[in-house]
Amino acid sequence: MTRPGTRPPRSPFAPEVLPDGRRRFSHEAVVARRLLLAGLLAAGVGGGALAARLTGEDPGAVPAGGAPAAAGAAGEVAGEVAPAAPQAVVASPATPAQVQGPSRTEAASPWVVVNKQHPLDPRDYAPALAVVAGKEVAAVIAPDLRALLEDARRDGVGLSVTSGYRSFQRQTAVHDDAVVRDGLETAESVSARPGYSEHQTGLAVDFGGRTAPGCLLEDCFGQTPESDWLRAHAGRHGFLLRYPEGATAVTGYDAEPWHWRWVGTDLVQRLTEARVATLEEFFGISGGPVYA
Ligand SMILES: [Zn+2]
Repeated sequence: MTRPGTRPPRSPFAPEVLPDGRRRFSHEAVVARRLLLAGLLAAGVGGGALAARLTGEDPGAVPAGGAPAAAGAAGEVAGEVAPAAPQAVVASPATPAQVQGPSRTEAASPWVVVNKQHPLDPRDYAPALAVVAGKEVAAVIAPDLRALLEDARRDGVGLSVTSGYRSFQRQTAVHDDAVVRDGLETAESVSARPGYSEHQTGLAVDFGGRTAPGCLLEDCFGQTPESDWLRAHAGRHGFLLRYPEGATAVTGYDAEPWHWRWVGTDLVQRLTEARVATLEEFFGISGGPVYA
């Protein structure tokens, strides 16, 4: 991550200009561009301006922050044919180096991004804990989580905490069980490997609702009044819907309407203002369904 006040180095994805004026893109640039496009298309994200940049309508543009540069359709000389299968998805050409705030890599940071490309460091990290509604969570989120639950109760909404902090050892058992139960491919789409779970930070909470007990940790939780209430009010307590619909290519997970991640109200507000749904997109951090 580039420090504030310093100019990012020339992007490795920028083209080399040939003597005849054509531009040669490195293999890495071609691969990165294809992965970025594939990820954005799969995720259904990206506005018109972004699409124009990526499809070469403005081939000179190099997004700030060192994100993969756009490649012009005409005059492009690829070093070799890129493989079709995506590895990791670079979620956004946003300006990550310009986002000021807490660390995105330190495990205890409220802004830490944990996904299949970015495990916790150390892998067996454990936070300071507090107990809220009978579940362990990171102590830092306890005041906001208590306030959220009280807010919901006042509104007559019966929210419960199904899962909060899960230790490295616990996540190992959860993941192993999911693999045995669902097979590796399905398990990996819903259950993180130990060291890669947001629950291990203590900053993530799985909510349950009173009205539809059968929808616990199921897609149909998204159609409950409790889910509606969370979507309308959780942000004011610093919680973000971490795995939204249509973002699997970015987050690496199918939609989970019950899984909310505390990031603090400041970051929720910034994402809202930027009209960005995921941490990966906002920070320009890689994610997606493939493990690093
Ligand atoms: Zn969860």
